[in-house]
Amino acid sequence: MSFASLGLCEPILRTIDEQKYAEPFPIQVEAIPAILSGRDVMAAAQTGTGKTASFTLPLLQRLAGGCKVKSNHVRALILAPTRELALQIAENIATYGKQLPLKTAVVYGGVKINPQMMKLRGGVDVLVATPGRLLDLFGKNALKFAQVETLVLDEADRMADDGFTPQVEWILRHVTGEHQTMLFSATLDGQVGNLVK
Ligand code: AMP
Repeated sequence: MSFASLGLCEPILRTIDEQKYAEPFPIQVEAIPAILSGRDVMAAAQTGTGKTASFTLPLLQRLAGGCKVKSNHVRALILAPTRELALQIAENIATYGKQLPLKTAVVYGGVKINPQMMKLRGGVDVLVATPGRLLDLFGKNALKFAQVETLVLDEADRMADDGFTPQVEWILRHVTGEHQTMLFSATLDGQVGNLVK
């Protein structure tokens, strides 16, 4: 199995080559074609399985073909439980998307909000965020969800365990336009059960 046979395009295949990934991991074989075709995806996947590439690669490819982002809008929203994970996802996106003309930002709590508001002013194609800070930014009118095409919940079990379920549900309710949804979680039952439903 090769990455090319999963339907990924040339600019993305070049960045994969640079990473020296010999072949796709099982979760990538399953998830990449489904995401490219626009389907919603729910996956039970631990860290270390290649799950980040399984959603970022097709997400970037779909965004690259789309429309221009408006100011304070975002086209793909990736929610992560912690600042560390958010930064790691953003790093992956910077690597995989470096050949694509997409704007990315990462926001999390515990730091000043103003520089993050400034970054969002021009709109961003991909925003990686922790749920609490995302709501703060929304409350300050720094962020609008009308253009969201893709919503990703990464490590959803951890978000649920850390008490973020109400915030995540609020976000799900406020992304009202037609969009693709993905959920990645080490487990699909327990605390995360409500989000999974
Ligand atoms: P993740 O599960 O997303 O945290 O990824 C774990 C690690 O696997 C990261 O360091 C990735 O760069 C790496 N990785 C992802 N996909 C592949 C692949 N197909 N072949 C080799 N390494 C990969």
